[in-house]
Amino acid sequence: MQTQIAPRFQDDPAVAEADAILRTCVHCGFCTATCPTYQLLGDELDGPRGRIYLIKEFFAGAPATEHTLTHLDRCLTCRACETTCPSGVRYARLAEIGREYIEAEVGRPAVERLKRRLLRAIVPHPERFRLLLQLGDACKPLLPEALARKVPALPKPLSVRSTVLKSAQQRRVIALAGCVQSVMSPATGAALEQLLGTLGIAAEVPASAGCCGALSLHLNAHAEARDYMRRNIDAWWPLIEAGAEAILVSASGCGSMVKEYGEALQGDPVYAEKAARVAALARDPSEWLLDHAEEVPFVAADRGTVAFHAPCSLQHAQRLQGGIETLLQRAGYRLTGVRDSHLCCGSAGTYSILQPVLSRQLRNQKLEALQAEQPDCIATANIGCQMHLQSGCATPVRHWLELCAEALQR
Ligand code: SF4
Ligand code: SF4
Repeated sequence: MQTQIAPRFQDDPAVAEADAILRTCVHCGFCTATCPTYQLLGDELDGPRGRIYLIKEFFAGAPATEHTLTHLDRCLTCRACETTCPSGVRYARLAEIGREYIEAEVGRPAVERLKRRLLRAIVPHPERFRLLLQLGDACKPLLPEALARKVPALPKPLSVRSTVLKSAQQRRVIALAGCVQSVMSPATGAALEQLLGTLGIAAEVPASAGCCGALSLHLNAHAEARDYMRRNIDAWWPLIEAGAEAILVSASGCGSMVKEYGEALQGDPVYAEKAARVAALARDPSEWLLDHAEEVPFVAADRGTVAFHAPCSLQHAQRLQGGIETLLQRAGYRLTGVRDSHLCCGSAGTYSILQPVLSRQLRNQKLEALQAEQPDCIATANIGCQMHLQSGCATPVRHWLELCAEALQR
């Protein structure tokens, strides 16, 4: 695609990066067919090709309006378009740059700004997030039923324990507890430790590591996101120097973010090298466990039927497909077929809060596909998808690591 950058953006390195991405798009439109928001809304500007066109026009000097921002806001950043694109267009990075500049130009109403600020102030901080849920739980009897149903139940805190004794010679990996996952599903981290323990591998979970930075990044708070990344790198670095073999991230949304630390901090003179090392060490636990699948002592049994929902951050961002399904089958679960498995469930970070109507439509479509064969359970790999799907169905929705850990016993 031919581009022309307006004089006011000349010499801006982020716009130069956007321009380079824009030039790789040949405008073929293949991506439109797999875009969930285009499928729902049927408007070219709510599909990847249209959004790319809007960003191109903006950097060429066209004025941005609130309509421009609305079309970009409706994008889930699910990256299905990247998987489909034959030209390798890095859409997500382009959208990230485009959104930052267009939001700065157009602005948002005060209520929208407040919503985003509150999300950034609460969600990445487990203690604040837990307090908010406790408050919501206490107020449930006073709320209208429809609203009360939306307050998720807070699980009992679980002390995450390692099943192996650590020694200086112990093989070890780093695990990220995550912010939302550590509050809403502590059993996921415990399951990972249990599975690693059967292989004689210890998981280190440094308390000073926290949010991966994805939430801030997706809300256009780029500097704040980079601060979270630096904090995690500082927390992990002594363990990396001591020989940790990998950084295992059980929430695939956080995993895709940590794998991009190198790119996000490439301009940082202090952290660039460390960030690249961290990104190279980051793995989804399925990648690690698949390498050791023969050694995991699953107890043979028929454990019922499972419909697996592959989060976009797993299949489109990390490009991991089929590994978790293989592990679940080895653990004794029978997988059901799921149509349109490439489509987003509508969770997409804070999307379910900021775009509730589209998000609910996508969730309901996804649940229909997942429940078509009436599975005993739905499994997924990301806490956001897990909570979002569970809010719309009675079938239990669980992290696949918990199902695998259960298969260590009869
Ligand atoms: S992003 Fe890729 S698939 Fe979509 S129009 Fe551009 S080149 Fe074609
Ligand atoms: S990231 Fe997802 S929602 Fe956004 S344009 Fe691409 S396919 Fe559509």
